[in-house]
Amino acid sequence: MQDTKLFETILGIITPWHIGRVELKTDDKRVELWLEHDPTRWACPECGELLATFDHAEERTWRHLDTCQFQTHLHAEIPRVQCPTHGVKQVRVPWAEPRSRFTLLMERLIIDLILQCSTVTGACEIAGVSWDEAWGIMRRAVARGQARKEARPVTYLGVDEKAFRKGHRYHTIVCDLERATVEFVAEDRKTESLASYYTQLTATQQQAVRAVAMDMWEPYITATCEGLPEGETKIVYDRFHIMREMTTAVDTVRKQEHRDWLHTTGTSPLTGTKYLWLFSDERRPEYHAETFATLQAMNLKVGRAWAIKEALRTLWTYRQQAAVQRFFARWYAWAVRSRLEPVKHVAAMLKRHLDGVLRYVKHPITNGVAEGLNSKIMSIKRKAGGFRNPSNFTTAIYFHCGGLDLYPR
Ligand SMILES: [Zn+2]
Repeated sequence: MQDTKLFETILGIITPWHIGRVELKTDDKRVELWLEHDPTRWACPECGELLATFDHAEERTWRHLDTCQFQTHLHAEIPRVQCPTHGVKQVRVPWAEPRSRFTLLMERLIIDLILQCSTVTGACEIAGVSWDEAWGIMRRAVARGQARKEARPVTYLGVDEKAFRKGHRYHTIVCDLERATVEFVAEDRKTESLASYYTQLTATQQQAVRAVAMDMWEPYITATCEGLPEGETKIVYDRFHIMREMTTAVDTVRKQEHRDWLHTTGTSPLTGTKYLWLFSDERRPEYHAETFATLQAMNLKVGRAWAIKEALRTLWTYRQQAAVQRFFARWYAWAVRSRLEPVKHVAAMLKRHLDGVLRYVKHPITNGVAEGLNSKIMSIKRKAGGFRNPSNFTTAIYFHCGGLDLYPR
């Protein structure tokens, strides 16, 4: 077998293309291959009409999979046709996508490497491509995947915000809670950020949304009320966000009480107890049990705040609307009588948004459901320092979490 035939087989080069020449540059560790074609008629890339060769574009080079650790480059002059309808056009070549500097197989390999490597830089090192080339491949892969994506219905959505980096604006991230994929990313967290997701849905898709889990964030609320049919009846406030507010309230009560003790007596039973109050009852390590029981017996303000917080967790165990309403009424009365301002503040907030809080009974969804997805986004975020700009963060989220068909064909 001639060396050109071998390469043709390996590369899957088919007629009218063949390898005209092979150069092995042992010093540079490179294999250079020149592709040529037989006389033939080419399909116009726009309409498919078969046309004669008009002329050739300048020689171009594509990086291919390495051959035994030798970087392998293909060279060819792409024929152009003159279509009566579309004018002069370059024809499609079977080994690469238009405008790519990599062959299909090389691009697939780089996509796989980026998916597997913990950093883009790592993939760059293994594949021997530049950082800009890698990001170019990611952006094209995402665009390709989005163009292929069908307008399928999404029943349960989760809307969350993630800071790209400290001091940077937030990204709005819309997830499909059932498929655990990111459906949409906007580089802000305004009403328009979420509204722009809803407006690009078809009417059928808008109808199909049954509920949206979110934070009590006015812009998201407004966008959902306006952007979905009967949107106000589809909001479910995220249980984890609510519990985080409540935990912060307990911590604020502790800080104030601790300060009061130090101020009046010069000493405080709350010294070093911060984390004791952040645990839920069953998560508190056993060796804290005695300390915690002693503190609880002192009838401290923080102890009361903690008990109110723990009681609130029951809210998400109800399955009946009437029962959960009775529960909330009792809990609310307790919270507002507590004379603990941070606790009363959260209670008032819940009361203002009560329909959306209690709607969990009907649609038991939270943003925490897509747990695997969240941790994926967080790990992308940890690497965000290397992303240089917010739009690369967006690309990376779609690339890793979009559930998209990324590969060139
Ligand atoms: Zn044409």
